[in-house]
Amino acid sequence: AGILATSSAVLALMIFLIWYLLHWVGKLRSIEQMKDDFTHNMTHELKTPVAVAYSAADSMLRYYDQSDEVRNKQFLKIIMQRLSFLSGMIENILSMSMERFKAMKLSIENVEVKPIVVEVAGMIELKADKPVKIDIEIPDNLSVMADSLHFGNVLSNLIDNAVKYSEDTVNIKIMADNNSIVIADNGIGIDKDNLPYIFDKFYRVTSGDRYEVGGYGLGLFYVKQIVELLGWSIDVTSKPGVGTKFTIKFKNNEER
Ligand code: ADP
Repeated sequence: AGILATSSAVLALMIFLIWYLLHWVGKLRSIEQMKDDFTHNMTHELKTPVAVAYSAADSMLRYYDQSDEVRNKQFLKIIMQRLSFLSGMIENILSMSMERFKAMKLSIENVEVKPIVVEVAGMIELKADKPVKIDIEIPDNLSVMADSLHFGNVLSNLIDNAVKYSEDTVNIKIMADNNSIVIADNGIGIDKDNLPYIFDKFYRVTSGDRYEVGGYGLGLFYVKQIVELLGWSIDVTSKPGVGTKFTIKFKNNEER
């Protein structure tokens, strides 16, 4: 009976080991596939805005007409939009690896919240292809200890998403006080099955892309890494069809 028990235990262990091995091979293969898809999509996404900005600059130079201010402004706007998209993408790519994040040195300084929100919101309103109304309620003298470049990028990712994942008319509300900043939209919302994963690297809600807005599931990953590096935290609540609300808590702010 002892031999029987031992051999069944060995058999069970072997079955478990084989299952475990297959499980990991499967996981690794899907990660490889994800990386391939990612590189393929990314190359395409980076080439398109470069080509558009290039041809806008080219036409502007070739047929330059000083008196046609409207046309010149249109070209400059196209170039600016594509460059701002590219710089967001580059920031996301550079910040993708956790190791890089941990090694990254933030330059922490006193940052005034209102001017940075107004600037980022203005840029997004300008480049949006649908009507966007951003309501900002932030005290004039509010400041936090942060890295202004990354704080700006965090805001830009959140406001960009609010526009991307909203119906035709976008209403965004941004409120802040000493403890937190809230970015709320009236967009399509996120269902409770997907909500716990939206900050994960490469995670996208497939149904969220019904307008084919595109993306890589990196924006919120970046946001969370930066927020945590600053010693802050971020929460999300959402209701499908009603809207989404992100809250960043400026934790530990007084101690810095
Ligand atoms: P991306 O926008 O590139 O897909 P993100 O990491 O920025 O990646 O967001 C992950 C997912 O979370 C998105 O694919 C989208 O489905 C969902 N999401 C993010 N922000 C919002 C929002 N404000 N409203 C609705 N869905 C959102």
